[in-house]
Amino acid sequence: MIIGIPRETRAGETRVAATPETVKKLAASGKHPLVVEASAGTMASFPDSEFAAAGAKIGSAAEAFGADIVLKVRGPTAAELPGLKRGALLIGLLNPFDAAAMAACAATGVSGFALEWLPRITRAQSMDVLSSQANIAGYKAVMIAADIYTRFMPMLMTAAGTVKAARVLILGVGVAGLQAIATAKRLGAVIEASDVRPSVKDQVESLGAKWVDVPYANDEERKIAEGVGGYARPMPPEWMARQAEIIHERCKSVDILITTALIPGRPAPKLIRADTVAAMKPGAVIVDLAVEQGGNVEGAELDQIVNKAGVKIVGFGNLPARVATDASALYARNVLNFLSLSLNPKSGEFAVPKDDEIVKATLVCENGAVVPRN
Ligand code: NAD
Repeated sequence: MIIGIPRETRAGETRVAATPETVKKLAASGKHPLVVEASAGTMASFPDSEFAAAGAKIGSAAEAFGADIVLKVRGPTAAELPGLKRGALLIGLLNPFDAAAMAACAATGVSGFALEWLPRITRAQSMDVLSSQANIAGYKAVMIAADIYTRFMPMLMTAAGTVKAARVLILGVGVAGLQAIATAKRLGAVIEASDVRPSVKDQVESLGAKWVDVPYANDEERKIAEGVGGYARPMPPEWMARQAEIIHERCKSVDILITTALIPGRPAPKLIRADTVAAMKPGAVIVDLAVEQGGNVEGAELDQIVNKAGVKIVGFGNLPARVATDASALYARNVLNFLSLSLNPKSGEFAVPKDDEIVKATLVCENGAVVPRN
């Protein structure tokens, strides 16, 4: 089996699906040659020479896409699809919610594995690309906010007087939100956080942040809020209205607002209205991590900083790509762990365990057809 690692070509994508570390492990058995497309790792600071030293051949895009196992970060573009070989394994963030992209991928005849659909079970944690990348996004969101914010984050007592600590509000406390709390905490900010899922309260408080409670009016609301499989579900409009009012009041005194709320396969819930932005202090900074799914904040625009009467709304997409080296390192390890279900890196034995629940959950297309999702 030839393992190919193409260069990512989508705009702004700097990551690479394998690193010299993972290439070395995959090359260990000597049974499966690796082809890394020239400059695939350059944007993530992994030069071709390091891939070559780890045991890969540096080749063309055609060679990398034409491999038996193709490791990608993002799903292939229309221009890349024809380069895939029928029967090959394709592993990456294939965007399984996009039916047209899935149909196009299936038409190539590859067996496609979409890592977005890894089940959230203990055994899959080491493969969980959504977690590894959300963790980075949460960190980077705070770094970006701190950079744009025109004041200090920590409280400072200086000879020239005292500087107040920044007040940070984090909405949506999944993997990204938890890392945002931890990072802002290290910078000395005073933090509040909220989420729809009640189980998050203890995690927020254990990180030293204050929980902003949005009460449930009845058992039905509470049941929906618990979510499914670790993910949130859309809340009833009455709860969303109650949340908007509570958050509106909090936002009046907030310096930095970071929103990360997502519901898989749906547009991001709108949490911040335009009048809430208007009620915030001049100089406040909002970072909307959900901007690629439509945004949590009214007025956020993809890859823009929108200035609304002195309140800056940052809508940068793909934050992990702004931490390209570590994002690639973690992603590549996730991919190696996923591939190891089928390919033993030490012995080189290869067999896809079709009955494995992780394999079954992620297989999105095979033999020219999209695999129906139940
Ligand atoms: P996500 O990216 O899908 O969503 C981010 C957060 O937004 C979630 O916490 C969600 O509850 C919240 N949210 C959605 N709608 C909201 C609303 N209207 N208002 C406020 N918040 C809203 O979530 P995620 O980061 O992928 O993680 C979800 C959970 O899964 C976390 O608790 C995480 O710890 C858990 N997890 C478990 C495993 C595992 O067990 N293997 C692996 C990864 C994550």
